[in-house]
Amino acid sequence: MTASSAPATSYKDTLNLLQTPFSMRANAKVREPEIQAFWAEQRLYERLSQENSGPAFTLHDGPPYANGALHVGHALNKILKDIINKTALLQGKRARFIPGWDCHGLPIELKVLQGLSSSERAELTPVSLRQKAHTYALEQVEGQKAGFRRWGIWADWDQPYLTLQKSYEAAQIGVFGAMVLAGHIYRGLKPVHWSPSSRTALAEAELEYPDGHTSPSIYVAFPAVQLPEGLAAQLNAAGLTAEAAIGEGGLAVAIWTTTPWTLPANLAVSVNERLNYAICAVSPRGENTAPAASHLVVAAELRESLEASLGLELQPLLNVKGADLEGIVYRHPLLERTSAVVIGGDYITTEAGTGLVHTAPGHGVDDFNTGKKYGLPVLCPVDEAGNLTAEAGRFAGTNVLKDANPTIIEALEGTGLLLKQERYEHRYPYDWRTKKPTIFRATEQWFASVEGFRAAALEAIAQVEWLPASGRNRIEAMVSERGDWCISRQRTWGVPIPVFYHRETGEVLLNEATLAHIQALIAEHGADVWWECDEAGLLPADYTAEAAQWRKGTDTMDVWFDSGSSWAGVLGGIAGGESRAPELHYPADLYLEGSDQHRGWFQSSLLTSVAVNGHAPYKRVLTHGFTLDEKGRKMSKSLGNVVDPAVLVEGGKNEKQEPPYGADVLRLWVSSVDYSADVPLGPGIVKQLADVYRKVRNTARYLLGNLHDFDPARDAVPYAELPLLDQWMLQRTAALIDSVSGDFERFEFYRFFQALQNFCVVDLSNVYLDIAKDRLYVSGAGEFRRRSCQTVLALVVLCHMAEDIWQNLPYPVAETSVFERGWPSAPSEWRQPALEDPMDRILELRALVNRQLESCRSGGQLGASLEAQVQLELSEGSEATAAALAWLESSAHPGVDNLADWLLVSALQQGGSAPAEMLAEASEAGLTVRIAKAAGEKCERCWHYETDIGSHASHPTLCGRCVAVLS
Ligand SMILES: [Zn+2]
Repeated sequence: MTASSAPATSYKDTLNLLQTPFSMRANAKVREPEIQAFWAEQRLYERLSQENSGPAFTLHDGPPYANGALHVGHALNKILKDIINKTALLQGKRARFIPGWDCHGLPIELKVLQGLSSSERAELTPVSLRQKAHTYALEQVEGQKAGFRRWGIWADWDQPYLTLQKSYEAAQIGVFGAMVLAGHIYRGLKPVHWSPSSRTALAEAELEYPDGHTSPSIYVAFPAVQLPEGLAAQLNAAGLTAEAAIGEGGLAVAIWTTTPWTLPANLAVSVNERLNYAICAVSPRGENTAPAASHLVVAAELRESLEASLGLELQPLLNVKGADLEGIVYRHPLLERTSAVVIGGDYITTEAGTGLVHTAPGHGVDDFNTGKKYGLPVLCPVDEAGNLTAEAGRFAGTNVLKDANPTIIEALEGTGLLLKQERYEHRYPYDWRTKKPTIFRATEQWFASVEGFRAAALEAIAQVEWLPASGRNRIEAMVSERGDWCISRQRTWGVPIPVFYHRETGEVLLNEATLAHIQALIAEHGADVWWECDEAGLLPADYTAEAAQWRKGTDTMDVWFDSGSSWAGVLGGIAGGESRAPELHYPADLYLEGSDQHRGWFQSSLLTSVAVNGHAPYKRVLTHGFTLDEKGRKMSKSLGNVVDPAVLVEGGKNEKQEPPYGADVLRLWVSSVDYSADVPLGPGIVKQLADVYRKVRNTARYLLGNLHDFDPARDAVPYAELPLLDQWMLQRTAALIDSVSGDFERFEFYRFFQALQNFCVVDLSNVYLDIAKDRLYVSGAGEFRRRSCQTVLALVVLCHMAEDIWQNLPYPVAETSVFERGWPSAPSEWRQPALEDPMDRILELRALVNRQLESCRSGGQLGASLEAQVQLELSEGSEATAAALAWLESSAHPGVDNLADWLLVSALQQGGSAPAEMLAEASEAGLTVRIAKAAGEKCERCWHYETDIGSHASHPTLCGRCVAVLS
């Protein structure tokens, strides 16, 4: 070939242009499922989780409820779990992940009921209802499962655990049985929503709150008959003697209620120990009559408003704390008995009433809990139909929805203790079927006695590592304060409480033999057997003869008992139990859920595990916050701020407005947030993340494109022979790997996100690739190593992109998938912190030069930076820079470690005289930078300005360096 036959344009083809099939566009909608199919075909998760040589790692999945579409909260939770599991897999651990679903419970039962016509409902049997609920739950599981898989989550998707599986239900009965035999389960009264009109207990979801409900509201004085010593002394000092206070017409505590029919069940008056109360002298206002009490106790804050509403002057005599009132004994205004003032809780406020709360433990949840604290009986003088019983004394036979209220109010009027009555409009629960008001009524329920193992539970909490540490305080406070756990529900869709009642005496049959027998039946047939068989079919052989005497119970277990038994049903943590996979162990290494689960699953799992085995089911508990919109508001349909993860991944109806970003962008979001608090998500954030994703992808593509003719086996350069620039880049890489490994140990993925972004944008793009633009082929070894470890760093988060990069490597690799490559570790020779300081100085110099070049460019004096030459002058104060320049000059590779190239200018001069036609000048810390136009002409191939252009006959438009490359 002769010079004249080479057309000028052909020089472009002699440059190392990007050559890679790895596309700039992610095309995630197509490419991600392809990559997932590749993983499935390679059985990657199965192989790594079962055949890795390291220890087993058990992250036990908390089961989402099998109802409804996936939301971003699910994404945050499952993707965090996946990042942790993939990290463990890369570290060589056997991280088997069995996903689970919570399948029983009221919401599903209601969904099924709502889908039926009234005639279908009438024909419904418990067994047919359960079959429909079973089918519905499985459909929901399949829908959610498809969503999880699309996000690239690795798990045993074909063998999940479901709380409706026979083996799971049997293990749950095992947990219940072990608690029974250890004496932790008992039967007792508890108030529940009760519908007198349909004579049944109702769940929260079966209630409705129609507008316009009014109740008869009454204020009543309960006369004191005894005072605690401290209060008596204070009153005495204020001028009210104990004799006067507890005498006829003396001191009384004022209460307010909207359910007068509960007064016969009154067993206490509760106060808030932290509130201020006023003891007031009473006198009538205007024409009002005086009540039968000279002094009243009311909340200090309500005194003035009560003066108006009661029509009384309330002259404050003494102010006390609620705690001071504890121990006042009062006389029931209607019945022959006395009760005491007790400390309730923060449910007692000054929003309405008097600040002192009439307490009937059989007819209210707060009342019940307060009564429990003081050992009060659960008095419930109301029968199934709402009729008061003999325990209500002279009011027996009246009905709570009819004549009980007026009868009781009338009786109070006769005592002089009724301070006021009026109609009161408020939210009140009605039966959704009969449209009649409901009441709270104590019924027989099954309880787990937390008191029996509270100390062991608190000890177990102390043994667990809580992340963040505040989680420990939360759960500790909840477990310290919680009452006994009511585990029975009057529902059909659940696991039965396997108990028999004697038809005559009501005696309970629940022992080792019956429990073992029913557990075996459920293991074989599933929990349906409880509804399908009669007593003879459910009782063990020893009891068959007397089967007719027994009636099986109809209660099911609280669904929190279901999910709280998963350590037994999945991890095999119960005697005779089997774990779902040999890699799973109990206690689990990690539980990871939202921070509300201190109240929920973390706690129910802890309580059952401690009750049965004496320790927690987990070693570590990690919590995450909740997802909010970009303004920190809850996501809701009405606000229109819901981010649907399916739309984010697959795109919306109009892909221009809602493009398919792919699962990796969703995953990148999860990795980017500090999830220890609540985390925001919205369109602005998604756009930013998509930008970061593109930058990472672009960097990867750039590296791949420059490797097209590179084969590490053939072209690798030993570390010691690398130029300083490459060595520095490897030091940065090693530093990145080290810091990111630490971040992952601490589950602080957002630090990884920041580090990755810095590495790609600053170290790689702005410095290394910028400087190395025209010589990437020189140091292939560095490229190769850097790219491969960067890939591994990104892969647990951007797993699809990482695999895509791996599949597009231009040279042969041993591993079929990037996931077989293991967690990255930097060779120790890469760690050369001594490179950082001189490099930092030179980067500062580079920044100074760039600022001057930029100002020349914006002033129109320069185009490309290669049109410039730079002169440096070093004076006092610039010793460190001088040392850095000397270091650079000492490089064994002056062709690469060349300051002019690093600055992207055509010529560089150190010292000497200032250029004649200076374009810019700046000084900083003893260093002066001067910019001028470069001498010579522009080389057609490399665009450098050189003075030797035209001196090569074969290529008259090229510089000497380019001529050398071409020959
Ligand atoms: Zn050139």
